[in-house]
Amino acid sequence: MDFIRKLMVPRDKKINLAKYDPADTLGHDDDQKSKAKLDKTIKRLDDLQDLFYAVKKRALLIVLQGMDAAGKDGTIRHVMSGVSPQGCSVTSFKVPNSEESAHDFLWRIHKGVPERGMIGIFNRSHYEDVLVVRVHELVPKEIWKARYDEINRFERNLSENDITILKFFLHISKQEQKKRFDERLNDPRKKWKFSKADTAERKRWDEYVTAYEDLLSRCSTEYAPWFIIPSDHKWFRNLAISRIIVETLEEFDMHFPKSPQPS
Ligand code: ADP
Repeated sequence: MDFIRKLMVPRDKKINLAKYDPADTLGHDDDQKSKAKLDKTIKRLDDLQDLFYAVKKRALLIVLQGMDAAGKDGTIRHVMSGVSPQGCSVTSFKVPNSEESAHDFLWRIHKGVPERGMIGIFNRSHYEDVLVVRVHELVPKEIWKARYDEINRFERNLSENDITILKFFLHISKQEQKKRFDERLNDPRKKWKFSKADTAERKRWDEYVTAYEDLLSRCSTEYAPWFIIPSDHKWFRNLAISRIIVETLEEFDMHFPKSPQPS
């Protein structure tokens, strides 16, 4: 329970992100020992996911949020590297298309929720509706303000329907973001990832920080907790997230079914 306890946002705690060090490693060093721990955790996750798929009692929903270049794609690539694609789905949420914007904001989200036995990952999520939507004033204030409670109700409903929810905020520093943008621009294999919009969003860094602080303060619940993951060090980010997923799955009392599936 180590990583869970240390990184979980307590319910109703007013979060000030300046108090959280994005380069923290909880005492771990970037050495062979940490590498071995990560490898072991990824392997364990693979085994647990196999069991989770066979048991089919619950679903696991993982929400990834963070500033641009915080490492959402890298997390999916590394943390889920051992997991069978059969038991795992990834849904990326972009600017809503015309069908999506004709519905309530949770409609497209609900469609992406994994079924029992599956691990579903959200690359961005319904939290964009209190982030980009708030920062760019895409809806009036009273609309986005009401969404924190709507989101809590929605997540409670999912959790009462056998869905375990883990939400990870990948916390990077503004300097680290700049470094990663520069890398993207200078590496032909990464340049495609860079968009001019990223620079425009960077100018609104402080507004995003406030929006993140509010959602972390208001939407970390016992049924759908937020975790603030120090993410300046990619190896530590991967270790922390994979450990939290493994610690969560280990809490379930899972055994392989004794009999074959009914035909
Ligand atoms: P990513 O940065 O996730 O790799 P993109 O560069 O395509 O992918 O960015 C997706 C964009 O969609 C982001 O700018 C994000 O803020 C935006 N987006 C996601 N959800 C919403 C939403 N509900 N309303 C408006 N914009 C959204």
